[in-house]
Amino acid sequence: MNKKLHKVMLPGAVVNGQPATLGVMGGGQLGRMFVHAAQAMGYFTAVLDPDTASPAGLVSHHHIQTDYLDEQGLAQLMQRCAAITTEFENVPAPALVTLGAHRPVAPGADAVAIAQDRAAEKAHFVRCGVPVAPHAVIATPEQLAAVLDGQNTPSGGSAVHEVTSVGADLLPGILKTARMGYDGKGQIRVKTREELSAAWDQLKNVPCVLEKMLPLKAECSVIVARGADGQMVNFPVQSNLHREGILAVTSVYEGAVPADLAAQAVAATRAIAEGLHYVGVLCVEFFILEGGQLVVNEMAPRPHNSGHYTMNACDQSQFELQVRTLAGLPLTQPRQHSPAIMLNLLGDLWPEGGAPAWDQVLALPGTHLHLYGKLSARPGRKMGHLNITGTTPEAVRATALQAAALLGLEAF
Ligand code: ATP
Ligand code: MG
Repeated sequence: MNKKLHKVMLPGAVVNGQPATLGVMGGGQLGRMFVHAAQAMGYFTAVLDPDTASPAGLVSHHHIQTDYLDEQGLAQLMQRCAAITTEFENVPAPALVTLGAHRPVAPGADAVAIAQDRAAEKAHFVRCGVPVAPHAVIATPEQLAAVLDGQNTPSGGSAVHEVTSVGADLLPGILKTARMGYDGKGQIRVKTREELSAAWDQLKNVPCVLEKMLPLKAECSVIVARGADGQMVNFPVQSNLHREGILAVTSVYEGAVPADLAAQAVAATRAIAEGLHYVGVLCVEFFILEGGQLVVNEMAPRPHNSGHYTMNACDQSQFELQVRTLAGLPLTQPRQHSPAIMLNLLGDLWPEGGAPAWDQVLALPGTHLHLYGKLSARPGRKMGHLNITGTTPEAVRATALQAAALLGLEAF
């Protein structure tokens, strides 16, 4: 982590004629919600994203429309901003290194580099003593051959169950590209050795991780925020339902995740953040297996889709915590004041040339609509989310199911 971050950037300050400005690499919806949170506290904002219509660029004081590695663009961002964060994990690491040499950057390039690579990420989890799925790295034809022959030494296997000989033990499995995957992209499910070989070819023989297919009972995630001074706070554990590799529903209330597993997940997430000397907001995703064991899946070095409920159900949102960690402001433990369910709103819901029936949805009590300002809807594209809050989990669930039915979403 960059030592320069220890300086506090007070909101509303004017330094050398410049208003206190926070920057973000990437202009997607997460950047947009960061910008909104920063502006609510009085900061000016700058977004670097080549897309002229990026959701965050559209609402920021400054929008630098260059490539992420463009030297002039990065120089402009540094000139404008007192500190810089990122909103997507695939931001090129060299850009963060350049920025980090001159400005506080949180999270730091090192942590982002680990989160960008599934193999490095899993190695970090193992170092932190958190169980991972049995897996093997396939980056070379020799490594593929070793897996096919059953000669490889799988990593993480013993943490979940005893594995003596491997190869076939990783099948059926999921072959995932080590880098650049999201929303289930860059993943192929394989049952046999033949399918595995073909899948690696289909993924153009880029470095991959073969993960054993685990029997999932449920999925959950934890979001923490850690300051440069090492102070850490966390949100409650989120229960997540994915459909076709994309988050569909997040439920957060007492009992949504069994208390013992929730405590384990929080402790594991804190250990993972601590081990990275992380500064910023970090989300860690977990599997809960049929047998009840908790296994870590992956981490996101930024606010996360499963944390969007915090905008309406907690006294501080994940984006406010991102602002605080970046600006060096104090952190206080966030408190969830309402049970909540979040429904992800994908482009599939948009009728040709129109919009979903928000007038009917918003007639339901405790519904909060967040749209990202994207001008065209495509299947699978994240257009927004609907948060539902209420006084009891039962009431929230009933309203969420009504909203889902109105929108044509499958019940859950
Ligand atoms: P994102 O970054 O958008 O969360 P991703 O593309 O990185 O997604 P993963 O989180 O690796 O993808 O996987 C997506 C989903 O696929 C998981 O949430 C889970 O439902 C399922 N899945 C992934 N790995 C396994 C596994 N080893 N066993 C069983 N199911 C899995
Ligand atoms: Mg995931």
